[in-house]
Amino acid sequence: MASQQQPCVLVVEDEGAQREVLKYNLEAEGFQVVMAENGDEAMLLVAEEQPDLIVLDWMLPNVSGIEICRRVKADPATRQIPIIMLSARSEEGDRVRGLETGADDYVVKPYSVVELMARLRTQLRRTRPASMGERLTHGDIILDAAEHRVFRGGHPLHLGPTEFRLLSTLMEKPGRVWTREQLLDRVWGRDIYVDTRTIDVHVGRLRKALMTNGGENPVRTVRGTGYSLG
Ligand code: CA
Repeated sequence: MASQQQPCVLVVEDEGAQREVLKYNLEAEGFQVVMAENGDEAMLLVAEEQPDLIVLDWMLPNVSGIEICRRVKADPATRQIPIIMLSARSEEGDRVRGLETGADDYVVKPYSVVELMARLRTQLRRTRPASMGERLTHGDIILDAAEHRVFRGGHPLHLGPTEFRLLSTLMEKPGRVWTREQLLDRVWGRDIYVDTRTIDVHVGRLRKALMTNGGENPVRTVRGTGYSLG
């Protein structure tokens, strides 16, 4: 179950061997990987899988990497997904053009896997901090993802594994309103059938745990939608 929290990386690359190398290395780092061979597949997977990061090859048949980048960054629903562009081009002009299109980073082929993974982690520490083992703070609540511990007002709290994942998800995006379906996808995983009412039960447990030593309820119910932190 813990793997459901692992960031999902979409690899868009038309060369099979390159795709396999990326898949192998990303999975070795503990990421979930989905792969697309071309632009159409990529756009479909962006919508369906809502990946946490995209590794995007510049040179693709039909729809170029630049065009995919432009589309992802033009859509408010997907523009926050970090994109790392891969390119055999090394001229400074191309690099600038890639970043101007909205790519968050740019790596020149042939690249070092170690360097690419470091760049990836840099992006994910920003967008998926809990999954990258960062320490998150919200008011008097501290979640230490690496140590798997939660404190409120300095007191350690006891959370079940589901409540921990739920709190990590909420603390990664304070203020964001999550629908029950989105929380189920993130906390339980997309392929698992869970009744949406189950989420209410676990939110109830989370609130109770967070208020063990008093303090106000930090998890807001958004009527007709879902939940939000703060
Ligand atoms: Ca290519």
